[in-house]
Amino acid sequence: MTTIATEIVKEHLKNEHLAGALSPEKKAEYVASIKEQLKQNNAVLVAHYYTEPEIQALAEETGGCVSDSLEMARFGRDHPAEMLIVAGVKFMGETAKILSPEKRVLMPELEATCSLDIGCPADDFSDFCDQHPDHEVVVYANTSAAVKARADWVVTSSIALDVVDHLAAEGKKVIWAPDKHLGSYVQRETGVEMLMWDGACIVHEEFKAKGILDLKAFHPNAAVLVHPESPASVVDIADFVGSTTQIINAAIDMDNSTFIVATDRGIFYKLQQLAPNKTFLEAPTAGNGAACRSCAHCPWMAMNELEGIAKVFKRSDVEIFVDEGVRVKAMKPLTRMLDFAQSLKLGVKGNA
Ligand code: SF4
Repeated sequence: MTTIATEIVKEHLKNEHLAGALSPEKKAEYVASIKEQLKQNNAVLVAHYYTEPEIQALAEETGGCVSDSLEMARFGRDHPAEMLIVAGVKFMGETAKILSPEKRVLMPELEATCSLDIGCPADDFSDFCDQHPDHEVVVYANTSAAVKARADWVVTSSIALDVVDHLAAEGKKVIWAPDKHLGSYVQRETGVEMLMWDGACIVHEEFKAKGILDLKAFHPNAAVLVHPESPASVVDIADFVGSTTQIINAAIDMDNSTFIVATDRGIFYKLQQLAPNKTFLEAPTAGNGAACRSCAHCPWMAMNELEGIAKVFKRSDVEIFVDEGVRVKAMKPLTRMLDFAQSLKLGVKGNA
């Protein structure tokens, strides 16, 4: 499955139109237009940590939210706006629609997907689950609505360990999908044997332990912060392993003044905002042949641009719809995740 996803990404990158940088005047024009249209449409902008800094700043300025997929889902559900503008990738828009069917959910680019989502087709996954009916089905948030509808639990990387621990305490056997790296990290940490789907994130998979160790040789006091979608060899050399939110909290809490960060570079906006006196270095990736363009930046997250957001309000082809039968089924494991997260009281330190 990983190979299929990687090939799709390479094809996409080959055909991708690289837009020139916007002038400051044009940016200001789009920003003003978006602010006005958010007000006119009673809409709110919900952005992921991996989107461009200007989009994150705009979401914050306009009373929206910048966060991980767990908090994006919760924020969108609880916000009184009639319309959610989701800057992220498609499964995030679908999750928003599942939880808030009465709201219109628009995304600047419906082509923005995720290699984990692509690598886990709903029919194949359902067949796999059918072969193991005595297993509890746990899927990562980075999946389609149809895959979520087949699951007992949805998890994000913030709560994966807690949920699997909880299921193990109840004596449940676990199917895990789709990220094999996160799954093997959870397996190692909890000691729970899991039947694993073979998916991977094309960004995190490119981090290499050697490159990080070489960089650390120049910065011996730097702490290495790693997202668990990275390969085990990278996780093994980390000083801290956690979700995006947990990485931000670790950077605030740890005494180190320098950090090597192995996750999408979009997170640097929030890291620099919440820990302004610290230095953050991008963990090196694999080189020119890598599927993620070797820049530690998700090609699909990069499709979210100011221009696209400014035009989203007047387009009829960028609205997210989810089949009602699928939505009702997917709602159950998603609500279970949000209730479970609420019981753990997760959140970002110092985040407004
Ligand atoms: S960074 Fe990886 S996991 Fe996140 S959306 Fe991109 S491909 Fe998917």
